[in-house]
Amino acid sequence: RSASATLLILSSFSGGGLIAYADSPSDGERPISIENEKETKKKKVVVLGTGWAGTSFLKDLDISSYDVQVVSPRNYFAFTPLLPSVTCGTVEARSIVEPVRNIIKKRYGEIKYWEAECLKVDPVTKKVFCRSNIEENLAGNNEFSLDYDYLVIAVGAQVNTFNTPGVWENCHFLKEVEDAQRIRRSVINCFEKAVLPGLTEEERRINLHFVIVGGGPTGVEFAAELHDFVHEDLVKLYPSVKDFVSISVIQSGDHILNAFDERISSFAEQKFQRDGIQVLTGFRVLSVSDRMINMKAKSTGVEASIPHGMVLWSTGVGTRPLVKDFMEQIGQGNRRVLATDEWLKVKGCEDVYALGDCATVDQRKIMEDISAIFKAADKDDSGTLTVEEFQDVIEDIIIRYPQVELFLKSKHLLDVTDLLKDVGGNDKEVDIEGFKLALSHADKQTKSLPATAQVAAQQGAYLSRCFNVRDKTISNPEGPRKFRSGGRHEFRPFRYKHFGQFAPLGGEQAAAELPGDWVSMGHSTQWLWYSVYASKQVSWRTRFLVVGDWSRKFLFGRDSSRI
Ligand code: FAD
Repeated sequence: RSASATLLILSSFSGGGLIAYADSPSDGERPISIENEKETKKKKVVVLGTGWAGTSFLKDLDISSYDVQVVSPRNYFAFTPLLPSVTCGTVEARSIVEPVRNIIKKRYGEIKYWEAECLKVDPVTKKVFCRSNIEENLAGNNEFSLDYDYLVIAVGAQVNTFNTPGVWENCHFLKEVEDAQRIRRSVINCFEKAVLPGLTEEERRINLHFVIVGGGPTGVEFAAELHDFVHEDLVKLYPSVKDFVSISVIQSGDHILNAFDERISSFAEQKFQRDGIQVLTGFRVLSVSDRMINMKAKSTGVEASIPHGMVLWSTGVGTRPLVKDFMEQIGQGNRRVLATDEWLKVKGCEDVYALGDCATVDQRKIMEDISAIFKAADKDDSGTLTVEEFQDVIEDIIIRYPQVELFLKSKHLLDVTDLLKDVGGNDKEVDIEGFKLALSHADKQTKSLPATAQVAAQQGAYLSRCFNVRDKTISNPEGPRKFRSGGRHEFRPFRYKHFGQFAPLGGEQAAAELPGDWVSMGHSTQWLWYSVYASKQVSWRTRFLVVGDWSRKFLFGRDSSRI
């Protein structure tokens, strides 16, 4: 075998042929060969998932050294930041998706794509077991397995209901394109129901009470989109019920958008208050029925119920069953997401990499590194540092671990004076133990980088760069890419670069948190949002479609047909 490698993206070859299983792999059926493939000398790379992490890995991957196969149940990439805009028809669903085959097509060579779901990864035999989405196929069954030399797991995360009764049955989610399309139909449904004859005023009010559980960026953006849709378009089409519409956001924390700078979160709360969007903070939802949401005030323990016409559940993400099963196999069963080292390789598992929302860099290693940085700075072993030394140490830590900066920022501790107060230091010296206490909070809070497209895309791009130079680093270990002499790693560790984040708030206003602790809010920020999101589109086709949709909305309003 040559040193070149095949990148396996949830697909694989066994021997020289693609194999399929007559029944599920667990039934122990013999695999059926459905297609013969030429024995390849290249290493097999299987990639699971075609979201932000998977596609960004595939886009720039040099496939001259690898046989790459991709497995994903959806044959398109979805630009998730615009999903809230799809819920109200500001942007059409087809404008934010790009066929995977368009993204992965290469001038030289081919990346194979299988529209299937990976059911199981077996790291011992280096196989993945998959089921095709398409029921009928030539072999009469829809399961197959693939071998890999390298596996890239980029399957993202799924919605998290925290086992709250009634949520699966009675709430909408906003994770996939289909979810956004369902919400769009459901909003119109509520309006059509509310205008039917024979309803009491109270029934019309209930039908038009839209509740969002979760005051994070997705929940807030949906509330803002819905408010605009109602007030710019629907009130003109359903004038008889326009006074009965209400929107509420239930948030368990004290503020909405609490991962943002507090200026942004209070700007959003004030804007929502002006718009008549009710924000209920400090409530935990206990259960949801088809008509009622039951919740409890966290401070007083008092329970309350509110009727609803439609609920969006948007409270964070959980682990996919495939990832859970894999974590159990490799001894990570007690974790929420896959732990990787800083080179994105799954801990305790050779040749398997994990990216995006399904993974996080193991914090134990980070805490060890941070302790070592302190030890090195504390030259006289006194257990204290001068303020200047302390400042250098913090800068060093932040350069290496941007998530520590995010944590300090969220606690408003970026200013060294505030930080000193928090860790029990004075203006002359800092007790290291005091700071370690603060870091233990950071450790808890920065278990992972934020689950964002930004992190996923950067990880994908980083890993493809590593794969592209793998051969070179093996044949020329002393070359410039070999950063750790004699070490087991050939590449620089992954470092996340935070470019800031946006929160669209409706009424052509947005808030943005940009690098350098710069905060911007209002109409001009909305135009910045338009330009950033237009520029970030994966193709000229989607860019054109998205900008076209925005223009159509300005000229003709949103389409309220329920199709
Ligand atoms: P995903 O993009 O979710 O991709 C996972 C892929 O795996 C999909 O192709 C899926 O079909 C596939 N898959 C799933 N199960 C399997 C399986 N068993 N086998 C094979 N393939 C499988 N982030 C930002 O940075 N900025 C934003 O403005 C922003 N807005 C958002 C708005 C919404 C409504 C949502 C839902 C998310 C938003 N995010 C945003 C977060 C961002 O979308 C995620 O962090 C990002 O999608 C994670 O990328 P990923 O590749 O890990 O997972």
